[in-house]
Amino acid sequence: MKEKIKILESVLGEVRIKIDEPLKYHVENKTSGKALIFYVATNLKELKQVLSLSSELKIPFFLIGGGTKMIIPDKGLEGFVIKNRTGSIKISGVKGKVSPKGIGVDEAMIEVESGVSFQRLNEFLKEQNLRQLDFPFNLNSTMGGSLQFMPSLQAVTQKVKVFSEGEVFDIDILDLKESDFILSVILKVKSGDS
Ligand SMILES: Cc1cc2nc3c(=O)[nH]c(=O)nc-3n(C[C@H](O)[C@H](O)[C@H](O)COP(=O)(O)OP(=O)(O)OC[C@H]3O[C@@H](n4cnc5c(N)ncnc54)[C@H](O)[C@@H]3O)c2cc1C
Repeated sequence: MKEKIKILESVLGEVRIKIDEPLKYHVENKTSGKALIFYVATNLKELKQVLSLSSELKIPFFLIGGGTKMIIPDKGLEGFVIKNRTGSIKISGVKGKVSPKGIGVDEAMIEVESGVSFQRLNEFLKEQNLRQLDFPFNLNSTMGGSLQFMPSLQAVTQKVKVFSEGEVFDIDILDLKESDFILSVILKVKSGDS
């Protein structure tokens, strides 16, 4: 494992790779467990890179989002823990019509990285006067950690970018597999006025 850690440090940056990182700072569950190796991916490029590198090096890894659902044993995790802090949200298209009152937006396509929390997403939707999503559980949960379990989120999902078996694919929501790692999603959201 030492050789593999050296490769991770040389590619991802020595200061970014943490050894024996206490996980209590990264998950909501109270734990004294540590991660043998730990890294925070802050954007999509870093997330793709770390997932590719881990699978090339055959390092067992765990991807965590908001950490709201992770139960970490006090003996810690022997492998590589990757914290997903990707956070970009972009409007990639709008559909609307011109009326006597001006130009109105009916719906928008939004590209959301998988580390975005529901709290952040709903703040963004509110700022843009788009309809917010109903989320009955923890608002710190991320898109990536929740998509598999939320039919209401799947219903507004147009496309999903996933990392699967060492490669990146753009897939339809119906083709999402349990083993896929979610990188980003494209959502179709109605106007807040509709
Ligand atoms: C309606 C509803 C139904 C639910 N049903 C279930 C259920 O049947 N079973 C269940 O376990 N939970 C279920 N949940 C809980 C759900 O997983 C959590 O509430 C929360 O959404 C987890 O988000 P998180 O970002 O905190 O994930 P975390 O607590 O960080 O991780 C939770 C799990 O998601 C995985 N994960 C995190 N990010 C990604 C990603 N980008 N790509 C792929 N996997 C990722 C982690 O590896 C881990 O296995 C349900 C939630 C809702 C709202």
